[in-house]
Amino acid sequence: MTKKETIRDRLIRRFYTKFKPTADRKGTMRSLAANGQRPEILIISCIDSRVSASMIFKAEPGEMLNHRHIAGLVPPYDPAWEKTGAVLPAIAASIEFAIRDLKVGTVIVKGHTHCGGIRAYIEGTAGSAVRSWMENAGPIMDRLDRSQDSEALLRQAERECVKCSFHNLLTYPAIRSARKENALVVEAWIHNIEDSVLLHLDPAQGEFIEMEENEAPALSPVESR
Ligand SMILES: [Zn+2]
Repeated sequence: MTKKETIRDRLIRRFYTKFKPTADRKGTMRSLAANGQRPEILIISCIDSRVSASMIFKAEPGEMLNHRHIAGLVPPYDPAWEKTGAVLPAIAASIEFAIRDLKVGTVIVKGHTHCGGIRAYIEGTAGSAVRSWMENAGPIMDRLDRSQDSEALLRQAERECVKCSFHNLLTYPAIRSARKENALVVEAWIHNIEDSVLLHLDPAQGEFIEMEENEAPALSPVESR
């Protein structure tokens, strides 16, 4: 009887049969190891298995930094963190490292539809750790229209969560000083997973606007390969 392949076996096989031969042939990873990475963007998103930025944007090694946690939520920066010597949330270190050290020029917080973390929070079924983390989005609870059906309510909560994260992002010192120097673009996006559509937040209107394929410039011959 053949042994059933586990997820662990599958990953090891994929690494050595798919990733490594390409990396070795192109020399990409060797060059990135020798010369360091120069990513241009930090993407903050949910840990959900359907929304990885590297996956949906077909990222190349070295191209983007990913910070992922439940709902991609960004808590507001608290100056007291530094004074009390408290351990800062991981997101604070990721933002600082991306902007101060790696000089990325773009930060995007990317939410998604059908977010399990947000659903658990608004429906009151979240475990204690998830609930505690989602309290960072506490102010959104007052803005929700509870007269809607549960799916419409979840869509509204997802949008409010991303808006909340976007405004909180602007409170981080590294982001504030890079924006002062016009060295940083900060945006908030939502990935509709059901129909693979991307929307971006218009901060002035507080509305999400669908992005069309023709908003993107034509691919270079290299990218379109
Ligand atoms: Zn999620």
